[in-house]
Amino acid sequence: MLEVKNIDVYYGNIQALKSVSIEIKQGEIVTLIGANGAGKSTLLKSISGLLKPKKGDILYENQSISGKAAQTIVKQGISHVPEGRRVFANMSVEENLELGAFIRTDKAGIRDDFEKVFQLFPRLKERAKQQSGTLSGGEQQMLAMGRALMARPRLLILDEPSMGLAPLLVKTIFKIIQEINQSGTTILLVEQNANMALSIADRAYVIETGQIVLSGSSDELTASDQLKNAYLGGH
Ligand code: ATP
Repeated sequence: MLEVKNIDVYYGNIQALKSVSIEIKQGEIVTLIGANGAGKSTLLKSISGLLKPKKGDILYENQSISGKAAQTIVKQGISHVPEGRRVFANMSVEENLELGAFIRTDKAGIRDDFEKVFQLFPRLKERAKQQSGTLSGGEQQMLAMGRALMARPRLLILDEPSMGLAPLLVKTIFKIIQEINQSGTTILLVEQNANMALSIADRAYVIETGQIVLSGSSDELTASDQLKNAYLGGH
């Protein structure tokens, strides 16, 4: 479904990604593991069109999307929930969700998806009229995910969805990620919590200082000493 091929990405003179390649197959949950500053967000932003690779290519359903405008990429079926869950604070929950569907014109489909999002996140339904800036951190994460789903993506990119959330809520968010995947959406997940991420992912890539250093099935990586020592708390 998605093929990132040897991309180099720079911020000015600083190279943040060095010949990075990853592949995501339809229906998978793939996770990207790495320390702070390793280049995880940079890779996600390159896929969703917020950054342009200097070299290499990104193929989505066999078509190059490298360097295309972010809005074009959303229209093609890729939604990105950025780190820090940026909701529109002065708008209600409902209005934020409507904005997620701004690229669509199928009114009946949009209504269906409102219902689906409210089923997935009953909390958002209860708070549909509330100003988003007054939601709790966890509720804002749910809203950011709900808004991305309103574009009806085939590939959903999630950047640190559990950041700053209480453990119980982290479990809820991970369960919902699995439900979204089971309903047919492919997922690329970046997580600090590598153990949790591996527990739901099919495959994983490990990135260090802008390069992919390890990849494999979640089972293989969970068993790998290299990963255990560096990312899984050494247990
Ligand atoms: P974290 O887990 O801390 O979010 P990350 O793996 O997502 O880290 P990136 O945000 O992709 O890391 O950053 C990769 C490198 O690029 C870092 O060295 C970072 O300082 C640098 N970088 C990121 N954004 C910019 C920017 N706008 N301008 C210059 N350098 C940047």
